[in-house]
Amino acid sequence: MNQRYERQLIIFGEDGQKKLSDARVGVVGCGGLGTNVLTALASAGVGHLVIADGDVPAPSNLNRQFIYRMGQERKKAELMAEWLASVNPNIDVRFHPEKVTTDNAEAVLGGSDILVDCLDNIPARKEISRYAVRSGKTLVHAGVIGFHGQVTVVVPGKTPCLDCLLKAVEKRPVLPSVGAAVSFIGAAEAAEVIKLITGVGEPLIGKLFTADLTSNSFEVVDVARDVQCPICSKIVNT
Ligand SMILES: [Zn+2]
Repeated sequence: MNQRYERQLIIFGEDGQKKLSDARVGVVGCGGLGTNVLTALASAGVGHLVIADGDVPAPSNLNRQFIYRMGQERKKAELMAEWLASVNPNIDVRFHPEKVTTDNAEAVLGGSDILVDCLDNIPARKEISRYAVRSGKTLVHAGVIGFHGQVTVVVPGKTPCLDCLLKAVEKRPVLPSVGAAVSFIGAAEAAEVIKLITGVGEPLIGKLFTADLTSNSFEVVDVARDVQCPICSKIVNT
């Protein structure tokens, strides 16, 4: 086994490392969360990554999206794929330089076993969650505003979907964002993916982790499905 995984083999064993190497993970969004999540997953040896993002880096991204540089004009998905190839050349990365929509979700994400929400707005998050519910795929969700963040795992038929969870959310033209908080929450989101793949630890299934780094307050609360949810209430509990 590759020496690059020596320290984590102590935790996962050869069997767990093979699960990481065989895993197919679709990450939607190559912004602040995506930068952290993808770097962590590639470093850990997650073998097959599909990434999607239609944007080009903007100067205002650079306080948290540390792989991009001023003046880059190519799509983030392509730049991210190059970065991940340099982080770990032993993994397979496919990039889609486009936004994931209801229409293309199956074509982009159909081959992935686990989906990861690294988006920055509620409508796009709900689209991915609805695709997860339709396809029965597990979705790891995270969100950050300023120094605050949250992480949960959506298992269709078992836990709330994002339509259940993200009902009334304040709309702001520009979301405040602190790079350190994005990295913190991105690390927690990546850890959920690794736990789901390897079976080590307790993923946040039916639980919401919240963090407020202004006061170092961390909580894990139980979350329940909305029995009236138009998206997931018809799915039978498994
Ligand atoms: Zn729901």
